[in-house]
Formats: sequence, C-alpha cells, structure tokens
Amino acid sequence: TEETLVLVKPDGVARGLTGTILGRIEAKGYALVDIRLVEPDRDVLAAHYAEHEGKPFYEPLIEFMMSGPSVAIRLAGDRVIEGFRSLAGTTDPTTAAPGTIRGDFGRDWGLKVQQNLVHGSDSPESAARELSIWFG
Ligand code: ATP
Repeated sequence: TEETLVLVKPDGVARGLTGTILGRIEAKGYALVDIRLVEPDRDVLAAHYAEHEGKPFYEPLIEFMMSGPSVAIRLAGDRVIEGFRSLAGTTDPTTAAPGTIRGDFGRDWGLKVQQNLVHGSDSPESAARELSIWFG
C-alpha cells in the first residue's frame, strides 16, 4: 500500500464540493488516514510549490491558495498516487475528461491560475515531502 497527499483547494471548499470529492475517493476504495481543514500561510505554500517558484502563475497560485480554507487529506491505498491523479483528471479543467473530478466540476474562469479543485502528489518522493509539509 501507498500514501498520497490530496488537497481540496479553496475553490472546491468554497463551492461546497468537499463531500462530493470525498465521496468519489471513498467509492474508489481509498482509505482516509487523516483529514483536516487547513489555512496555510505563505511559508507552507512556498514549500509545497517550491518547484514552481519564478513561473508566471506562481504568485497568483499562492494568493489563490491563501484565499480560503482547503482540506488536506492523507490518503492510503494500492497505487493511490497514480489512482488519485486519474480520478482528478488533467490540470486544465476545460479539457479534463468527463468522469474526472476536474472534468465534471472544474470550470475555466479565465484567471491567471487554474482553479482546478484538487491537488494530488505526483510521485512517491513528492508524496513523502508533501505529507511532511501538511501533516508534520
Ligand atoms: P497536474 O500535475 O495534474 O497538472 P498539479 O496540481 O500537480 O496537477 P502542477 O503542474 O504541479 O499541477 O501545478 C500546480 C498548480 O498550479 C495547478 O494545479 C494549477 O492550479 C496551477 N497551474 C499549473 N500550471 C498552470 C498554468 N500554466 N497556468 C495557470 N495555473 C497553472
């Protein structure tokens, strides 16, 4: 078994989609190991998004992530890292496949940052790093 970090981002929480997203995760059979409402400060977000520092969407992304609470989830299951990313769909909600979280619920707001509802770690190394940032 494996663990990953999932975030329901501020747009997902603000739109009342937390329960729907958790429902899909649970229906798939993954296990909630820990879950908490978080209001990350800039330091936490700078650590989480270190790989994107300097990119054009970096500052808008940090601001967006501080615009309201998120839900952080420690999720476990066989191949859950790949599996959750499959549930989430591709980054751009406009072109994400129907049936995915982003494809079914994400919208293109025409903003400088993709408000794409969720985050999921992209590798075992990222998962370990991100779980320690969000859950200590
Ligand atoms: P995925 O890896 O599936 O794209 P992710 O959340 O891991 O999802 P990253 O590439 O790590 O995506 O980017 C982090 C976040 O930054 C994205 O989820 C999105 O909110 C935002 N983002 C990424 N690329 C862009 C972009 N070109 N324009 C605007 N926002 C972006």
